[in-house]
Amino acid sequence: MTANEVRSGAITEVLNRSAAPTADIRPLSEIWATDVFSLDTMEEALSKNAFKAVKKTVKTGEPLDSATADIVAAAMKDWAMGKGAKFFSHVFYPLTNITAEKHDGFIITNPDGNAITEFTGSLLIKGEPDGSSFPNGSLRMTNAARGYTAWDPTSPAYIMHTANGATLMIPSVFMSWTGESLDKKIPLLRSNAAMDQAARRVLTLMGETDIAPLNASCGAEQEYFLIDQHLATKRPDLLLAGRTLFGAPPAKGQEFDDHYFGAIPERVQVYMQAVEEKLYRLGIPAKTHHNEVAPGQFEIAPYHETANIAADHQQLIMTVLKATAVEHGFICLLHEKPFAGLNGSGKHVNWSVGNETQGNLLDPGTSPEQNLNFLLFCGAVIRGVHKFGPLLRAVIATASNDHRLGANEAPPAILSVYLGDQLEAVFEDIKNGCVNPSADGGEMDLGLSQILNFKRDPGDRNRTSPFAFTGNRFEFRAVGSSQSVSGPLTSMNTMLADSLNWIADKLEVELGAGKTHAEAVAIVLKELMEQHGSAVFGGDGYSSEWHEAAVEERGLRNLPTSADALPVFTDPEVIELFEKTGVLSAVELNSRYEVYSEQYINSIAVEAKLVIDLAKTVIYPAALKYASELATTISAAQALDATFDAGQVKVIAENANGLLETVAQLGDELAKHDFADTAAHMKHCASVIRPLMEAARVYVDTLETEVDDAAWPLPKYREMLFIK
Ligand code: ADP
Ligand code: MG
Repeated sequence: MTANEVRSGAITEVLNRSAAPTADIRPLSEIWATDVFSLDTMEEALSKNAFKAVKKTVKTGEPLDSATADIVAAAMKDWAMGKGAKFFSHVFYPLTNITAEKHDGFIITNPDGNAITEFTGSLLIKGEPDGSSFPNGSLRMTNAARGYTAWDPTSPAYIMHTANGATLMIPSVFMSWTGESLDKKIPLLRSNAAMDQAARRVLTLMGETDIAPLNASCGAEQEYFLIDQHLATKRPDLLLAGRTLFGAPPAKGQEFDDHYFGAIPERVQVYMQAVEEKLYRLGIPAKTHHNEVAPGQFEIAPYHETANIAADHQQLIMTVLKATAVEHGFICLLHEKPFAGLNGSGKHVNWSVGNETQGNLLDPGTSPEQNLNFLLFCGAVIRGVHKFGPLLRAVIATASNDHRLGANEAPPAILSVYLGDQLEAVFEDIKNGCVNPSADGGEMDLGLSQILNFKRDPGDRNRTSPFAFTGNRFEFRAVGSSQSVSGPLTSMNTMLADSLNWIADKLEVELGAGKTHAEAVAIVLKELMEQHGSAVFGGDGYSSEWHEAAVEERGLRNLPTSADALPVFTDPEVIELFEKTGVLSAVELNSRYEVYSEQYINSIAVEAKLVIDLAKTVIYPAALKYASELATTISAAQALDATFDAGQVKVIAENANGLLETVAQLGDELAKHDFADTAAHMKHCASVIRPLMEAARVYVDTLETEVDDAAWPLPKYREMLFIK
């Protein structure tokens, strides 16, 4: 088959597709959480005492005694086998961003050779996947490579189905033999505990006596692209790198905003409904779906949940999105920038903290007392973003997210906080010491009447801010679509814990000196705003003036690439933050730096190798073939006294030669390995490899616009994005 036959064949296949409805769609009430070993399920299956013990563990994370663990394991096995499961798996989240699982059978044989099943409390609690091939950043020597998984009872077990059966999945943590975290769940759980402790200190000082356990909440908005499989599979770059490495801009892109919130194509909606059907069975509260800005781009957002569960659910959502796409003839791209010149995909992480007694502490609320708490927690976030903005940049630093940050649709790489006009004014007043002074000019009154009527975020949300207050939560918008939300949540909880502790220390002094709560809050927040208020920014985060002012006038750091951002993990103040709060040790933190740096370097190397390969074996031959046809025709015509302009042949030749030269250079640069350290290697990727890849791309994209459409070997943007 010629290149074009492959392409046109794929297009024909796509045109023959129709929506593939799920056979058995049920009402929500019949399917909700049916595949979840929930507290309700346990209550039915367990004795009163056993259930009481489990419930306590689920609510508080306290360990379960071994006798009860055996009872729970037996009930879990019976429930899972009743649903067709023969295998179970501890599911865990290594530093690679993936969801990892190793499956074990319930089966054992007895001395008579008969198959029986077994699942004890100790099997439930601890798995030993070994997993010595997972990156661990020098945490485990290969001779002591053992890692093990441990059940996280606070996130419910569930069933995953295939056409041939089911598997019991047990959310777990993953650690080294010596107890270091090798995963993303342990730090998230620890960060929640640190936040809980610090928040409790502040609330106690503020006179609260009944304080339920505090949890962070997370609602993550997942953006993704759907491309028909027939076309996507003809693009080696989409298959291997998850994004297009080449592709000339189509005549029409997203300039009409005619895709955003438009009518969802039937085939896509059928897909979305199939996804949601599965998510509901898994107890995941999928809440919104819509078309996004770029053609072929969509979004799904579940209702917010406790951060730990939301993080597990987020991973499951990505798994289900991808698997279901294949069933519907699509490839689901979670990459942050699959198509140049079009919006990339993010995962806005909506985050708040609260509990059953004080409610959401980032909700301005309606009573002054609550407002004081709100102001303190909101102030704590401002301080956190100011002090640890570079850390927030580092936790979203990946090779793929770099394409998106600072591009036209995504927030810049400088971390600032957007509060909205009203709240910004309140904090400005606090800083100036003039919060609602009483009429006689006497003592400051932090009754804050203006906050009593504080309105929800007005419609004109500032989309250019990487970190925005949106009425009763903060929205971290710079997070990438393919990322686990655990890193961002861990960092936000930890920086909040640190700030709340700082606030508690100051409050103790002021209250000890006899100040009222309102006075003490005013004094502490004034100091906080004087030191950290420069992180608050309500203007246009895309503008070049901001980029200058942020750095030069406000002293904020601009870390444009991951090569700039990842070393932040080893900054002394970041190490101190994580050690002091008990969230990550210096060793654990350093292992993260090593693993993420290696991932950055490897993903760029894979793309660069692919650029070289495709340039030499796909693009150049196509260009040469077409140019030689043109040249032959032009010479033949000349013999007949007809003259065709040879300019196009020259343009093709120049670009094809330029391409070969560039990829040869790219090959040379890629072969270099003698770097002083990882940071230098990353710099090389950012400042040498990537620009050469971009230069190669310019040649290829020019060739795409010069070579006969019938001879072009790769599906074009217009085909991948617009044929439904
Ligand atoms: P947007 O208007 O930003 O696109 P969406 O409805 O798509 O909003 O998503 C908002 C997300 O924020 C949802 O997941 C929602 O449940 C979540 N959310 C709402 N309130 C809170 C809160 N207090 N804490 C955390 N997440 C929240
Ligand atoms: Mg949304």
